[in-house]
Amino acid sequence: MKKPFGLSVVIGVFICLIVIGASAPRRAGSNVSAAANDVDLLIAGGAVITMDRDRRVFENGFVAIRGERIVDVGGASEMKAKGYKAKQTIDARGKVVLPGLINAHSHIPMTLFRGIADDLDLQDWLTKYIFPAEAKNVTRDFVIAGARLGLVEMIRGGTTAYADMYYFEDAIAEETKKAGLRGVLGETVIDFPVPDNKTWEAALSYTENFVKRWKGDALVTPAIAPHAPYTVSTDHLNQVKAFAEKHDVPIIMHLAEAPTETKIIAERYNTRPTLYLEKIGFLSRRLLAAHVVHVNDQEIEILKEREVGVAHCPQSNMKLSSGAAPIPQMLKSGLRVGLGTDGAASNHDLSMWEEMDTAAKLHKLVTMTPTVVTAEQALEMATIGAARALHLENEIGSLETGKRADLIAVDLGAPHLTPMYNLRSHLVYAAKASDVTDTIVNGRALMRNRRLLTLNEEAVKAAARQYQKQVSESLRGGVR
Ligand SMILES: [Zn+2]
Repeated sequence: MKKPFGLSVVIGVFICLIVIGASAPRRAGSNVSAAANDVDLLIAGGAVITMDRDRRVFENGFVAIRGERIVDVGGASEMKAKGYKAKQTIDARGKVVLPGLINAHSHIPMTLFRGIADDLDLQDWLTKYIFPAEAKNVTRDFVIAGARLGLVEMIRGGTTAYADMYYFEDAIAEETKKAGLRGVLGETVIDFPVPDNKTWEAALSYTENFVKRWKGDALVTPAIAPHAPYTVSTDHLNQVKAFAEKHDVPIIMHLAEAPTETKIIAERYNTRPTLYLEKIGFLSRRLLAAHVVHVNDQEIEILKEREVGVAHCPQSNMKLSSGAAPIPQMLKSGLRVGLGTDGAASNHDLSMWEEMDTAAKLHKLVTMTPTVVTAEQALEMATIGAARALHLENEIGSLETGKRADLIAVDLGAPHLTPMYNLRSHLVYAAKASDVTDTIVNGRALMRNRRLLTLNEEAVKAAARQYQKQVSESLRGGVR
């Protein structure tokens, strides 16, 4: 049958436009069309949990990365249609790809104190064991060895970013940068002589140099970290606030951790820890507060109003009998809540998988309500929730176009993950750090197929064992 003339012309023009359309970019410069679908890394074939606003999950999905950022996320058919050409491809079949986990509270060098004193309450543990052990052992080299050990553990367990507070934080920043991890790293300041600084003035001067060195770095965000409301005076907290404003940096601090703190603050200032900080104008979106166990509804509202970030550390709180933070109320209020492991001395490990599992179960037990802190909420607190607590939610915490390429792949083949009815509850209640196969930060692979690419694990462990001898020796007679 003969086609009507008009239609032939239309078809002819249409074909012509397609040809012109396809050839035009090549004439304008070959990299114009090349740039649209050329990517550095394509991760495809597995399930993808985005943790984006709509909490999209692709059963067979992909993530495309160019340079330091994610350029596309979607399903297999979409990827095929877009025809991505990748320099490198990761076959994620049998795996799930998700945003890297974010540890919202740690003291990374304390990996070297893993298990030196257990089954004690916070004040005994801190004043009789930890502070003396730190005074006798912590040097810049100690901090470097401990940081490396913690970095190995975190990369192996799929943690791509962490918030830290310790001494010699400048050395921790160097190690973090070298290992390729992302960190919000706070130099600890406190009202007594500590391993790196013997006076308050020296500590502030150290922190100023530290901040100036790292401000603007793609991986390291420098911060100032006053230890707690009961170990830093009001005058010094005011100085910390002024310092943070002057240099535009975050503040990291322990807050309302244990009943003893509530008692000390009541005796000293006749109020409660959170209300005290509110009274002196210390609460703001700069602050990332760790623990926040002993707060009431009024204080939760104040923290929400001030946009304070909260790092919930359930395992540390349980081990030191500090109490259970009112997380269900905090989540209901919309507070920025992330999960943290705290230091290895009060937790034994830096596994965010255990922390998610514990967070989801602890509050069910405490409230006798199985519907509070769901697996989904626990996963949120380890990813986008922690990013919100760190005020970095525009950069990390979910797999979305334009965000930093911080992501992990988890193998789903282990017996403890078989069979699989619900992917997200499996990740929270059953997956282990050892199931993580690939860890990518800022577009760079730090672990591929369980092989570490930026750290020598055997050398790191050997150095840690050397320090174990030294620590044991230093505590002989004094501790245990
Ligand atoms: Zn802590």
